[in-house]
Amino acid sequence: MNAAELVTRLEGVRERGPGKWSARCPAHEDRGPSLSVLETEDRVLMHCFAGCYPADICSALGISLRDLFRDDVRRRRNDEVDDEMKRRMEHGSRKRAPAERAEALPAHSAPIAAFSF
Ligand SMILES: [Zn+2]
Repeated sequence: MNAAELVTRLEGVRERGPGKWSARCPAHEDRGPSLSVLETEDRVLMHCFAGCYPADICSALGISLRDLFRDDVRRRRNDEVDDEMKRRMEHGSRKRAPAERAEALPAHSAPIAAFSF
């Protein structure tokens, strides 16, 4: 889900700039727009100035925290990318052993390879 889709579920939405909105927080009795919504490259950030947790805001909207990640980049979370970068930097100068290469393959590629025989 992107931020533009998310804000359609909110009330009192005001656009504050490119990829930026304010709205009434659905997780508490909000009179003013306490909720800020910010679209980043891979996810939608929500911040309630009254201190509601993102998980509470999501459940008030009937969505899960996972839905805040954009569909196209959901599979590669930042922390996984960071881990991979570290691994590449550690192993980058060495030739990879076959065992390491097999590990680096995504889990779902093994059955697909088997079917091709
Ligand atoms: Zn709130």
